[in-house]
Amino acid sequence: MNIYKHWRLETDSDQILWIYFDKQNANVNSIDYDVMEEFSKIIETLSKDKQHKGMIIASAKKSGFIAGADISKFSQFKDVYEATALLKMGQQIFDQLEALKIPSVAMIEGFCLGGGLELALTCHYRVVEESEKTRLGLPEVKLGIHPGWGGTVRLPRLIGGARAMDLILTGRTVSGKTAAKIGIADVSVPKRELKRAAKFYALKHPKRHRASYLHAITNLKPVRAILTKIMRKKLREKISAAHYPAPFKVLENWEQVSVWNTKAEEREAETCGKLFLTDTSQNLVRVFFLQEKLKGLAKEAKFSFQHVHVIGAGTMGGDIAAWCALRGFHVTLQDRDPKFIAPAIQRAYLLFKEKLKEPYLIQRAMDLLMPDVDGSGISKADVIIEAIFENLAAKQDLFKLLESKAKPDAILATNTSSIPLDEINSVMQHPERLVGIHFFNPVAKMQLIEIVQSARVDLNTIQKAISFVRQIDKLPLPVKSSPGFLVNRILMPYLLESVAMLDENIPANMIDKAMTEFGMPMGPVALADTVGLDICFSVANYLSPFLKTSVPQKLIDLVNQKKLGRKTGEGFYKYKNGKIISSEKNSYDEKELKNISDRLVKRMIDESFACLKEGVVSDGDLLDAGMVYGTGFAPFRGGPIHYANAEQITASTSS
Ligand code: NAD
Repeated sequence: MNIYKHWRLETDSDQILWIYFDKQNANVNSIDYDVMEEFSKIIETLSKDKQHKGMIIASAKKSGFIAGADISKFSQFKDVYEATALLKMGQQIFDQLEALKIPSVAMIEGFCLGGGLELALTCHYRVVEESEKTRLGLPEVKLGIHPGWGGTVRLPRLIGGARAMDLILTGRTVSGKTAAKIGIADVSVPKRELKRAAKFYALKHPKRHRASYLHAITNLKPVRAILTKIMRKKLREKISAAHYPAPFKVLENWEQVSVWNTKAEEREAETCGKLFLTDTSQNLVRVFFLQEKLKGLAKEAKFSFQHVHVIGAGTMGGDIAAWCALRGFHVTLQDRDPKFIAPAIQRAYLLFKEKLKEPYLIQRAMDLLMPDVDGSGISKADVIIEAIFENLAAKQDLFKLLESKAKPDAILATNTSSIPLDEINSVMQHPERLVGIHFFNPVAKMQLIEIVQSARVDLNTIQKAISFVRQIDKLPLPVKSSPGFLVNRILMPYLLESVAMLDENIPANMIDKAMTEFGMPMGPVALADTVGLDICFSVANYLSPFLKTSVPQKLIDLVNQKKLGRKTGEGFYKYKNGKIISSEKNSYDEKELKNISDRLVKRMIDESFACLKEGVVSDGDLLDAGMVYGTGFAPFRGGPIHYANAEQITASTSS
């Protein structure tokens, strides 16, 4: 009889004990206190076991081994002591597992992340399924903490400190095949061989994996001292320790305590316990759940589609088509002439090469993307996305034609950034069919897509559009069709304020530094130059009457002089080989920088509250999600509304 809620134990005819993890009432395995308590009992029983020749830990779920610790519990710790105590308890259980006489194997298929990998690392062997779908990693730093159940100690021991630090500091994951190549796994095999391979290790217990000499010496004190210096410098180029302390703590621990020292785990639990209670971690956990919320919007929607037709093969349409083909859908791409489609196909090839790597996969994606000057895809497609010039009459003509030719249940979508949907749909027989599916540039990098709703749109159309966006692996954000929708509307006053600061002779790099120090991925001046000043001008031009401001003269002058930013070699900055050349000094008084960022962020916050008041999005969480995923708004601050509330900043807008 099975006495556990989350675990199922079976002994096979070779006296191998199979320990299946099957978390109760969950689709995915994650570790929490309850799960650990049961696991501890199992380990205790096994410490006296004489019956079994080996044990294999596996998942009983349809997908994945273990996703990690249960993140919903992360924000529930009362204090540092409680968090540290839980970590120490986990470490103790894993230490007991490692000390068992009976050989243990983790049989891994699908994701094996965070606490899941830490559990696997305590087993004597790891046997993994070889495909790209199997992902192993310690992504804790993405939630503002670091591994706390022995991961920062066992991984460096197993594969060498240098390689382990690379994985822990970035939080990146590796495929089953790569895991075996770098020594995290003992072997990677096709799915059909998985059980057999796991049994081989459990029964024959060959020599356990050890880091090669070259990798092992990276754990020695003098080598650690050199490596941590280099790694810390590299980290500082990307993030600041004040915003993201976790990776810096990992480095500090590794530098100061040998991974073979018994104190290493204790130190790991203590620093990780403290990190749990930081604002950074609490906000990153919040952002994680905001992402889940966006993903969850598609749960209700059921829409199955195969064929996407994109009209307009320019910057956006070309990349939208390529992205859909990359996700495995059949795509036809239409433009006025083959010569407009050819560059898009070339860009698609480069994208497939970068993302898919294997020649046969690249070929398969290329085969899915068909140039279609005649528009023969219109009548066959399930989703039609218009991305032609930003011109009302042209779009109206097109949608009149589309609704007459398209399948009656096909999605008719526009990628417009600025034209109100109710103006486009005013010429349609069925205006309720039109929806905005507003991608951001560059399509392959930006996760967010605004689902724009006109006053007349049918709810079912919105649901289908949301479902489509999830199926191409992006994050849908439903917004009302009002000027600038959400993201551009909030971004624009912020960008215009930064141009006003330039007029006040505040140096461009000082403005940008203020905002990167606040936590934005790029400052507003560099962002405007990167987007292109012509595009900024056209958005500013149509939004400024609505925002009751005017387009700054400096922006107009630069556009007239064809100084359009990075792409022309000059905008607000001058560029050489795509890099900013600046003669301005780069160190500024922290207080002055803070004044600048306060002023700029205030513009975003005021506009955010105005959007909430007007119902552009339905709540503050969705707005925060939109700004984090649509603009990179400092994730460790949890989004503009959350930040404003935490800092008690009130909106000064009269709207
Ligand atoms: P673009 O000028 O790069 O491409 C437009 C393409 O549409 C051109 O290749 C053109 O030949 C083609 N075209 C024009 N009329 C056509 C017709 N009747 N039939 C078939 N093809 C036609 O433009 P873009 O930057 O890709 O923008 C396209 C749309 O996406 C616009 O509505 C724009 O507002 C929106 N958008 C642009 C961005 C951006 O950053 N560029 C971001 C989000 C949304």
